[in-house]
Amino acid sequence: AIEDWRQIQDIENAAKHEAAITLDGHEMDVVCNIATPSDAPAVLENGGAGVGLLRTEFLFEASKTEPTVEEQTDALKEIVKVLGSRQLVVRTADIGGDKPVSWLSMPEEDNPFLGIRGIRLSFKNPQMFRNQLEAIYRTAMWQQEQGVESGIHIMFPMIAKVSEWRRARDIAEEVRSALNAPKLKLGIMIEVPAAAIQADHFATEVDFFSVGSNDMTQYVLAMDRLHPELAKEADSYSPALLRLISMTVEAAEKHGKWVGVCGNMAADPDLASVLIGLGVKELSVSAANVPALKLLIRSVSYEKLKEKAKKALQQETGSDVRALYKDRSDLV
Ligand code: PEP
Ligand code: MG
Repeated sequence: AIEDWRQIQDIENAAKHEAAITLDGHEMDVVCNIATPSDAPAVLENGGAGVGLLRTEFLFEASKTEPTVEEQTDALKEIVKVLGSRQLVVRTADIGGDKPVSWLSMPEEDNPFLGIRGIRLSFKNPQMFRNQLEAIYRTAMWQQEQGVESGIHIMFPMIAKVSEWRRARDIAEEVRSALNAPKLKLGIMIEVPAAAIQADHFATEVDFFSVGSNDMTQYVLAMDRLHPELAKEADSYSPALLRLISMTVEAAEKHGKWVGVCGNMAADPDLASVLIGLGVKELSVSAANVPALKLLIRSVSYEKLKEKAKKALQQETGSDVRALYKDRSDLV
């Protein structure tokens, strides 16, 4: 299937700017993961409808000290100048684990992936967290001054507990109201299994979920995503992972919220097929993958994908799921 994918990726297709609608009329949102302002133009050139994940670590990795609010705001403005009012999901700093920052004194940890990373690090550095939130809200205010309705969403990484989400949300609201900035949608990454398992509780309060399958795969299988031997076994075809995503979607749907996937699995054609069938609404991939993903969506029937995804959930192993999607003739 990966070879098929490469092949269709080669097809130069003007349809990349058109909507991604299945044969039976189900529309998907295809958006992009970006990591710097210079990635933004390629989103639109490739037909992305917006940004499903802005990894903001570049702001912190590139400098020798904490970047000022103004520097952070300028970087975000560069992106919204390109995107206009389109969706831009800004993930607050996901430092720690595989993403260290030289100037932040971070204690040595035996298990950095189970340590102070993501939102945990933000809570340990509250002023830095507030500064980042201020930059995000200032960018939305700037858009408002230009007469542009902001498409910025704020997303918190590595949320494991409802109390962490509430704490992050409350800090964001304090920062927003002090600035008198417009309200922005607030969501969380679903990348710790606990959050998926309790998605019903989160779904009543958040505006959206985005599944970080890179981390959730490593956490659900207890396999380090960077481990030289285990990384290739840390397989996003795992039915255990798929069940967690399915639980997340069911909980979200009950409360009228949407679920995206921004981990690498969204760019794999067979896994994208599973995800659509599970009811995921938004797929966020690197810009280069957008045209092929849209072609794939247009070539399948949503009703058929749903039926097949139910079977995927019942498989015993990732290899069984792979085998199930080898035959794609039942997807049209
Ligand atoms: C993920 O964990 O799947 C994700 C999208 O975030 P990152 O790869 O930046 O941890
Ligand atoms: Mg992650």
